[in-house]
Amino acid sequence: GTYQDDGVSPSPDEGIEEEKAPFEEERPGPVQIVRARESDCIFDLDIAALEKILLQDHLKDLNVVVVSVAGAFRKGKSFILDFMLRYMYNQQSDSWIGGEDEPLTGFKWRGGCERETTGIQVWSDVFVVEKPDGSKVAVLLVDTQGAFDSQSTIKDSATVFALSTMTSSVQVYNLSHNIQEDDLQHLQLFTEYGRLAMEETDSKPFQTLMFLIRDWSSPYEYNYGLEGGRAFLLKRLEVKNNQHAELQNVRKHIDSCFSNTSCFLLPHPGLKVSTNKDFDGRLKDIEDDFKTQLTKLVPHLLAPDRLMEKKIGGSKITCRDLVEYFKAYIKIYQGDELPHPKSMLQATAEANNLTAVAGAKDLYSKNMEQVCGGDKPYMAPADLERCHAAYCEDSVRFFCSIKKMGGKEFCQRYQTQLETELEEAYNAFSKHNEGKNIFYAARTPATLFVVMFF
Ligand code: GDP
Ligand code: MG
Repeated sequence: GTYQDDGVSPSPDEGIEEEKAPFEEERPGPVQIVRARESDCIFDLDIAALEKILLQDHLKDLNVVVVSVAGAFRKGKSFILDFMLRYMYNQQSDSWIGGEDEPLTGFKWRGGCERETTGIQVWSDVFVVEKPDGSKVAVLLVDTQGAFDSQSTIKDSATVFALSTMTSSVQVYNLSHNIQEDDLQHLQLFTEYGRLAMEETDSKPFQTLMFLIRDWSSPYEYNYGLEGGRAFLLKRLEVKNNQHAELQNVRKHIDSCFSNTSCFLLPHPGLKVSTNKDFDGRLKDIEDDFKTQLTKLVPHLLAPDRLMEKKIGGSKITCRDLVEYFKAYIKIYQGDELPHPKSMLQATAEANNLTAVAGAKDLYSKNMEQVCGGDKPYMAPADLERCHAAYCEDSVRFFCSIKKMGGKEFCQRYQTQLETELEEAYNAFSKHNEGKNIFYAARTPATLFVVMFF
């Protein structure tokens, strides 16, 4: 109606488009706020997008609760987040989990193995929830994409994990089947990367960490859910005196970084979910065990009385503050102040491999001592060589069986080093064995006399 005022009336087409575009933008959806550039390891923060979401009048002064899910690609992170969305949209209802034939929508989830943009997405709808004490909080759901698997992308993964841990009140570390040693080492590396960027305080830098184990397959050992998870985690993170120092470090590190640590064991959702191309997320295609545990997991994370406001340096922060923290943190990762996580990883991987080499070599030496050690009689060289070959194999197998960081090629270098060291050890054993050979000894004149005398 006011076009005439400035004397320029737009063509009818332009007018329609202008009305349409904003309407489409209003539909809730995932918004990429942090994105890795393709060429280098630089991350960009979409400040405008973040501000548009968090600086809305009804949100900006509310304390914020941030629930994030992080972990490797294609392990069901977005899938689980979409159930969290269902819960948030249907808080008041007992049937929040949805209808049997309702496709699951929200954050993009799906099979296939094409890469997604590495980075962080948030759900554009921020949920306002009243806690039992009457206070209102804003709940932001965060999805992350990182590879976690190869050396070349380690800085990307570390940055995504660190940033999302620093900005969330609950970080869900999504893992498949089990907590492996390298999952813990990644966690240590990534949280260390986060801690480096934060100011030194006496308080623990991060809030809640939940290990979410997908496809848990030993319910007879540790039951599904939180209780089983608690027992499993206790066992897994137990610090024993006879452990390698590094393992102890990982465990102590987690303790020192997070105020709360928990674990939830989730069953396999069924083959339709994991392998059927046409599966669209409807409940009737999902196993009952999975759904049962889902109805426990999601409220545990998101029920009004469970919501934890994000704290930084001991104080609760608002949505407006969160924008500022994002801006500050991303700057740190864009600069050169921090060591490259690759060098941190490299150091860990080196230490890993060296201890594995030492352990494997020790196994070989002990075995060889048993057959040709100092107090053992002389052995025919052919027999000794057979023993050597067998123990060598055992030793290398042992080396391979130890979980190590650094990737295949890197570990192969250390395996070659091990094999060289085993050959050297064999030469020493061989020489020592020859020393016990009476006929060999007989070649020196003094003993020749003794031999002839007998
Ligand atoms: P993301 O990359 O971690 O976000 O993984 P997605 O949520 O996109 O899921 C990847 C694939 O795993 C999809 O085909 C899902 O159907 C499937 N999926 C989801 N949850 C689970 C689960 O708990 N176990 C298994 N085995 N597959 C799952
Ligand atoms: Mg995803």
